[in-house]
Amino acid sequence: MLNIGCHVSSSFGYVKMLEDTIYIGGNTFQWFTRNPRGGAAKELDMDDLNKFLKLRDENGFGLILAHAPYTLNAASDKEETRDFAREVFKYDLDILEKIPGSMYNFHPGSHKGQGIDKGIELISEILNEIMSENQKTIILLETMAGKGTEIGSSFNEIRKIIDNVKYKDKIGVCLDTCHVHDAGYDIVNNLDGVLKEFDEVIGLNYLKAIHLNDSMNCLGSHKDRHEKIGKGYIGLDAIKKIINHPSLKHLPFFLETPNELDGYKDEISLLKSIYNE
Ligand code: FE
Ligand code: FE
Ligand code: ZN
Repeated sequence: MLNIGCHVSSSFGYVKMLEDTIYIGGNTFQWFTRNPRGGAAKELDMDDLNKFLKLRDENGFGLILAHAPYTLNAASDKEETRDFAREVFKYDLDILEKIPGSMYNFHPGSHKGQGIDKGIELISEILNEIMSENQKTIILLETMAGKGTEIGSSFNEIRKIIDNVKYKDKIGVCLDTCHVHDAGYDIVNNLDGVLKEFDEVIGLNYLKAIHLNDSMNCLGSHKDRHEKIGKGYIGLDAIKKIINHPSLKHLPFFLETPNELDGYKDEISLLKSIYNE
């Protein structure tokens, strides 16, 4: 069974996210824990959450994925920005502990000129502060396109962060197809080679989720602009190989393509039609 969903709006709570997902034909979703450009987290509505947890089981949903705000930068050169990152991590993880079967994805960060090694050191330091032995939520490092001073556009950088993390069973990777493509990994012509490299450098056991996006830009462009499925430089043939790859086909796929719900619905039905059970 194809485990798929899209990024849904969290404005109306968990039950609404589940309903939107059922509408588009999905069985998982991704949501922002708060406004992606910053701002405070919303109060958790326990009534809504409990209804959601019950409906989720009844509807056979799989693991769901929370996305940290874009403004979280654990690699920042500013102490106050790193303090904000700590605060958000702690607050969000606290909520996610109440939602069994959720994972937490974040952008590793931008080093802002301090250099990649320093950035990796800062990210690892914060992760070790906010992770605990008993946490149930798996934290995912997202592979990035390499815009500006972004960290995480090479498998090596992701590996170095994992190396520094104390609780390695609580960390994983979310591979964004648009991002790795824009970072220069040729998933169109050499998917097997890219996954082999991922396995050798990071280990496929760390791969927990896929952001399934086409790209508006060419291989190695470092741009990070998502395109609709089959309409970009990655293309439908490569996407078909990705969702059916033996190393990937069991993972949850999350669409972050430029669509409204009906567009996602069409993409999911297309993807289901080319998925080999
Ligand atoms: Fe992301
Ligand atoms: Fe993504
Ligand atoms: Zn992106």
